Amino acid sequence: MTRPLIAVAALGGTISMTPGGRIEDGVVPRLTAADLLGELGADLPMDVRAATLAGISSASMDYATLARCLVWGAEQVADGATGLVVVQGTDTLEETAYFFELAWPHDDVPVVVTGAMRNPSLPSADGPANLLASLTVAADPRSRGSLVVFNDDVHAARWVRKSHSSHLEAFSSAPAGPLGLVAEGSVHYFHPPLPRPPALPLADADFSGLVPLLEAGIADSGELLSLVLAGGARGVVVAASGVGHVSTGTADVIAAAKVPVVIASRTGAGPTFRGTYGFHGSESSLIRMGATMAGWLCPRKSRVLLQLLLATGASRSRIEAEFRLRGDLDR
Ligand code: GLU
Repeated sequence: MTRPLIAVAALGGTISMTPGGRIEDGVVPRLTAADLLGELGADLPMDVRAATLAGISSASMDYATLARCLVWGAEQVADGATGLVVVQGTDTLEETAYFFELAWPHDDVPVVVTGAMRNPSLPSADGPANLLASLTVAADPRSRGSLVVFNDDVHAARWVRKSHSSHLEAFSSAPAGPLGLVAEGSVHYFHPPLPRPPALPLADADFSGLVPLLEAGIADSGELLSLVLAGGARGVVVAASGVGHVSTGTADVIAAAKVPVVIASRTGAGPTFRGTYGFHGSESSLIRMGATMAGWLCPRKSRVLLQLLLATGASRSRIEAEFRLRGDLDR
């Protein structure tokens, strides 16, 4: 039997961070992909090819870096890779995983995104175990689409969120739950990954312009959204309260908006509604104003989807259709 060939792209993050000159300066990205793989030893049950494509904190992740990684991954597939592992900081890992969910065109080649919560200079650093588990999942023929492997859990990019700022168990897929787990070097899938909607082609994507994410809250006059729209935003995602509600002031601004406004729930679990509440600022009033509801997509992933759609020149009706396709569960 031929051995799986996994391509590993390192982009930086805690997993690659070691102390600089003075201990009080803290850790910074230093380790390469080869360094990270070197910690796993030579006796791996798959062939591995690695490249260091960036060395950044994931707070600075951008679409230029992700597009570079996408192109590199496609080259590796053309060259025989059967799986891809992307290693980066955990802080924005869920957005990177969702980017690959939307843009990775190879349905039969999984992309597994991972990182670490403890840097290599700390006791029980989790980077090597997360990387090894990710290689295992990437090499499994049942794996497909974009996955996050962390602390031996396998998550779908569609659901996963960083839900703790410091624990090793930093990712969860509430309310859907993980797809499976890794134990004794094998993947155990409870729910094998579902087929994805078609990938969004990014060849001519133009990511210029702002697509902000604003959160609704008390004492919200709508002034901030108004400033953002006047500043030339290309589209806006509102992390709305509950099932998709905003203040009357923000509703007035949305009613007059000339660019796409997507309404997602800020709660962390559960969908936006379509027709239960009727007050000014409710989900049904916002739909009548032309806002797009994100369904089950969280605000951050809604922003990634809206950014990719706007970057590829999608019309308002296409944006609405894509959010229904990717945000609702009844497909
Ligand atoms: N906790 C983050 C990490 O795991 C900090 C650094 C970053 O996101 O790049 O990598």
